[in-house]
Amino acid sequence: MRTEGAVFHEVGAPVAVEEIVVRDPQEGEVRIAIQAAGLCHSDVSAINGTYPTPRPTVMGHEGAGIVEAVGGGVRTLKEGDRVILSTLAHCGHCPECDVGHPTLCHNAPRPGTPFTVRGKPAYQFANTSSFARHTIARVSSAIPVPAAMPMSQAALIGCGIITGVGAVLNRAKVEAGRTMAVFGAGGIGLNIIQGGVLAGAGKIIAIDLMPAKLEWAQRFGATDIIDAREGDPVQRVKDLTRGRGVDYAFEAVGHLSAIEQAFNALAPGGTLTIVGVPKLDARADFLVNALRVDRAVLGCRYGTARPQHDFPMLAELYLGGRLKIDELITRHYALSEINHAIEDLERGELARGLFDMTK
Ligand SMILES: [Zn+2]
Ligand SMILES: [Zn+2]
Repeated sequence: MRTEGAVFHEVGAPVAVEEIVVRDPQEGEVRIAIQAAGLCHSDVSAINGTYPTPRPTVMGHEGAGIVEAVGGGVRTLKEGDRVILSTLAHCGHCPECDVGHPTLCHNAPRPGTPFTVRGKPAYQFANTSSFARHTIARVSSAIPVPAAMPMSQAALIGCGIITGVGAVLNRAKVEAGRTMAVFGAGGIGLNIIQGGVLAGAGKIIAIDLMPAKLEWAQRFGATDIIDAREGDPVQRVKDLTRGRGVDYAFEAVGHLSAIEQAFNALAPGGTLTIVGVPKLDARADFLVNALRVDRAVLGCRYGTARPQHDFPMLAELYLGGRLKIDELITRHYALSEINHAIEDLERGELARGLFDMTK
């Protein structure tokens, strides 16, 4: 079918909002009418060349919509189901999938080209392409949610929320009453903070360079804030924890200086979880001997998510008033305004920019 999407053709050039053709769903796939989509830093990192991405690509990877056609062999979804897109394309039967680690799947298929743009095949971004009014998804990437879940709020679960809350609950497994520090209070950092609230963390310290983000952090449950421009944040974290440091540190920006500060802010026995994604060849510098007192450094991909379990759970937490999503949406955009939205995100003005894909 003919529809409209935001297409990445060239590094550094504006994204083109133009006509795209979406093929019919094949075996094990569904076609989804996207209702809402969020803009995430990973979209920008592809567009500006930080992460090499094949082109042309229909962008967007955070979204929710309604199933409008199902391919052969699809038994778990039907027309009219409301779904959140998951960026994982896990196989469901390799050893990692079998033990409940779909983010580590061995057999994830390579990016497909379900679109045609200007007469040529175009790639799907992160198995989703939510900046298209209609897209294709494998059944494993289309996660049903309760009918009561509004689509704009549902969209953000699929990347920003699962990445942040999942890092706390699934990866670091923060224990109630413990202390944590979050370096970077943007879209992901705020979700790490509210993940800490859900886990019952005793002290949640937010660190950022922008006063507006520190205000957001307090609204999301930070108990203490540190403006990183006012002196050494590591010392400030220690001052707030009786000289000990924190049990859990999270880095949500992907900056080496913040990763190193987060490591240095750990108490003995503390765990650093790196959620931000630095450049591909980035190397951090820390004292290896500091690990001897049971400190640990963890990576975390996509909130160590199990989407079929986690997405409906997060939707229920929202519907029960225990997860903030409305407050994450800083600004609404039409798809035609995507380049403007990217500029706003790069200026640090957005927790999340949301596209209403039905307009
Ligand atoms: Zn994302
Ligand atoms: Zn697998």
